Amino acid sequence: MCGIFGIFNHKYASNMVYLGLHALQHRGQESSGIAVSGTNGIVSHRAMGLVSDVYTGELIKKLSGTSAIGHVRYSTSGTTSLSNAQPLVVEYSHGSLAIAHNGNLINASILRQKLEVKGSIFQSTTDSEVIIHLMAISKKKNTVDRLIEALKKVNGSYSLLILTDSELIAARDPYGIRPLVLGKLKDSYVVSSESCAFDLIGAEYEREINPGEILLITAQGSESFYPFKEVKQKNCVFEYIYFARPDSIVFGRSVYLVRKALGMELAKETHVDADMVIPIPDSGIGAAIGYAQQVNLPFELGLIRNHYVGRTFIEPEERIRHFGVKLKLNPVSEAVKGKRIIVIDDSIVRATTGRKVIKMLKECGAKEIHFRVSSPPVTHPCFYGIDTPTRKELIASSHDLKEIRKYMGTDTLEYLSVEGMMRALMKTGAHAGYTFCDACFTGKYPLRFPCQMTLDEVESIAKRKKVVDPRKPYIIVDTRRSN
Ligand code: AMP
Repeated sequence: MCGIFGIFNHKYASNMVYLGLHALQHRGQESSGIAVSGTNGIVSHRAMGLVSDVYTGELIKKLSGTSAIGHVRYSTSGTTSLSNAQPLVVEYSHGSLAIAHNGNLINASILRQKLEVKGSIFQSTTDSEVIIHLMAISKKKNTVDRLIEALKKVNGSYSLLILTDSELIAARDPYGIRPLVLGKLKDSYVVSSESCAFDLIGAEYEREINPGEILLITAQGSESFYPFKEVKQKNCVFEYIYFARPDSIVFGRSVYLVRKALGMELAKETHVDADMVIPIPDSGIGAAIGYAQQVNLPFELGLIRNHYVGRTFIEPEERIRHFGVKLKLNPVSEAVKGKRIIVIDDSIVRATTGRKVIKMLKECGAKEIHFRVSSPPVTHPCFYGIDTPTRKELIASSHDLKEIRKYMGTDTLEYLSVEGMMRALMKTGAHAGYTFCDACFTGKYPLRFPCQMTLDEVESIAKRKKVVDPRKPYIIVDTRRSN
């Protein structure tokens, strides 16, 4: 869960990145940083907190230069600390280098231990730093070749921006798991996790950075490299379900239109007689509109969101998370009293939100509550950059529909099927033949796990930061069979 933004050749590069990061704030609220390349090499600023709190006008002025990259972070690997904030900036034998990464490398701890044995000294616990060290030990002559050599050793998801004194490089893993798009702002190149950041600065959306593409941007222009074996792409379906902003184009489709289509399929599969459809805002809005249109029912705002509190899921303490739902959402009593309500949410993780919402709506006098979810049950953790908990904490991993319904206290509960989700994606598809990573719903992980690791081991490394023994022989486990 991170957002990255970069610009090449702009008089106010750091200012543009600052604005871009504002648009990407939903992708990470823990820390933020900007690195800019100017006459004094690469200078950077990183701090914990929201973009609006991290930078001041004075600071942005000091970050002067014509090319810059920025990052907003919420950790899926590594601990929560300033040393893990990105962009990471290093001076190495070939000059200065800054890196901003969205994704997660599943073999990072193995690579890290091997590098440490050889003398590498790490400044953070984030997996992204492994790429820098792999580049530093490369004997290749130029940055792109050093990056290619490094990326050939990593296993996982990455959408990357690399800044040097004279280059901006954008790279996306061969599966294209996380998004990354390219735009133009007059003579400047811009690269962003999501296109909504282009809208803000008035840049034109050009295209996706292709899966497996390494795009080198220099004063001479741009050049693409495709150094990896071609594989079937596996775009993260959860970007559509929850993570990306609805006004973005992600993997070639409008996120909003996909969410609406998910709601329509949900209605086709699970509709019951009711008086109105209400979303859990904001992430349930698109699907609820689609659902209401499909069955010709009024779409109402039965819950109001307080936009000045962060997403509850990301608060680290259980205690705060429970409190957070009430902080964030409040029912409109007069709208729901005595009514049979279809409540739409985009996903259920631990079922904390749904349970609290149902209790609040019942207390306001709602007559019936039919909870509908515009995605299938989340049964497996993500190892590719979305922050989902372990299977133990994922309610759908250990409880059946009847048990979850009872726990949530809803009259009925239904999820969208995996087939329904795919139908919605196909209907809104810009390109036929797109395939998705839906491991969080199916347990079918597209990337093989490193060593002879089982799902249990990968889960414990990814979620509890356990370090593995690098001397273990590399035996590839096909996780598609083990699930
Ligand atoms: P929960 O309350 O644990 O069931 O979480 C589900 C709610 O959190 C839904 O309303 C989603 O919109 C939202 N959500 C789903 N996945 C995530 C995530 N990875 N990070 C933050 N929020 C999420």
